[in-house]
Amino acid sequence: MPYKFVCPECQSEYHVKEQGILVIEMASFGPYKVWEADLLECRGCNKTFVGGFAEQPLMEHYEKGFDEWLELIKKSYDANHRTIVYDYERPQKSTPNIEQNKETLDVG
Ligand SMILES: [Zn+2]
Repeated sequence: MPYKFVCPECQSEYHVKEQGILVIEMASFGPYKVWEADLLECRGCNKTFVGGFAEQPLMEHYEKGFDEWLELIKKSYDANHRTIVYDYERPQKSTPNIEQNKETLDVG
């Protein structure tokens, strides 16, 4: 892993909780770019963040078949209980995908 993050509160390193999560970057008109990235977590305080983005997005909104492709990849991630995170310009009130997957992971 070429990057490293440390939690200043717990004084320990973040670890990769899930590799290759799907990040859907949103614009005013809807999905803009779709990325693969990692979900990192502090083992002490359980704070999470998304980092380790790929250099290029998987796909961008102007590419042919984008909407259909996005629906398929979202279904695939859901079916495999993998995390999907939306990336908005402004803070949103909830993170339903992360919460949902936490429950799923705890059970498994
Ligand atoms: Zn911490």
